[in-house]
Amino acid sequence: MKDHLMQVDTGAPLAVATGGIVKRYGDQVALDGLDLAVPEGSVYALVGENGAGKTTLMRLLLDLVRPESGWARAFGLDVRRDGPRVRSGIGYVPEHRDWGPTWMKVSRLFRHYRVYYPAWDDDYAAALVERFEIDVDRPVEKLSKGQARRVQLVLALAHRPPLLLLDEPTEGLDPLVRDRVHRALADHLATTDTTVLLATHHVHEVATLVDHIGVLSRGILRAQLSTDMLSHRLRRYRLEAPSDWAGPASLNGLVVQRRTEGGVGVWTVWGEEHEVRQALESSGARVRDTAALPLEQAVLALLAREDR
Ligand code: ATP
Repeated sequence: MKDHLMQVDTGAPLAVATGGIVKRYGDQVALDGLDLAVPEGSVYALVGENGAGKTTLMRLLLDLVRPESGWARAFGLDVRRDGPRVRSGIGYVPEHRDWGPTWMKVSRLFRHYRVYYPAWDDDYAAALVERFEIDVDRPVEKLSKGQARRVQLVLALAHRPPLLLLDEPTEGLDPLVRDRVHRALADHLATTDTTVLLATHHVHEVATLVDHIGVLSRGILRAQLSTDMLSHRLRRYRLEAPSDWAGPASLNGLVVQRRTEGGVGVWTVWGEEHEVRQALESSGARVRDTAALPLEQAVLALLAREDR
């Protein structure tokens, strides 16, 4: 099963790649042999339960934490050896707001940042400030969570970096602001060549932006593939079958999840629809219907995989 669900084309240019990354905090394994492949120009959503290792991965790419073993590259550069060059090409929205000199007014903070980023675009920053209704005269320490998040987004986007690392960028924001942020991100992607690695618990909100998905659970990447492939190959089958029916051997390793709802079997299976249907029916089940899964449900099924 693992191979079916790990299908990013690693022959294509990768904006971010890691190999065998292991990161521990004391006895706690945060990342356990991570092989990540983020194609250039993609919007890659990293999903996983609390504590799965998403933030650790982002901090590792910024060389803010270092792994026990393994390697990580961004734009082909080693993130440890070429840390400053790598960081200059990254726009980062951290999960927590423990950033920046908090006594500064927002306007001063922007001036502070633009020194570090030669590509900083004043006009674009001003347009984003207007769009997000940011009061640039407020000190950073007096910003609400939502206001601070919007300021972080301006800092990340205004130098149009080739790589955006967005760690739950809309967490804790009200629905209107979330929507505004997603629209700004969509507009940014339409006008800027960039790759996005986005950690989120709300994949349905970004489903129209995302084209690759990585499912991380307890530090292990359980699936990594394009959303196109996911929607074509992972389907739900509702079926009637005898109570002692175990399913066809040919689907061993391809059944991601099996449940019963109101006496009907609901199986989530990887494969070409006609082949799966034929395998199910020739072994004694009647397939009532089959459907593609919305991204959110596909992710839930992958997180609940039986062969974990
Ligand atoms: P969430 O969705 O809750 O933000 P996450 O997927 O971002 O979680 P991480 O923050 O990367 O997960 O944490 C991965 C694991 O490493 C967790 O078990 C966490 O408790 C542990 N961890 C993270 N940072 C530290 C630290 N500084 N010291 C000790 N343990 C840590």
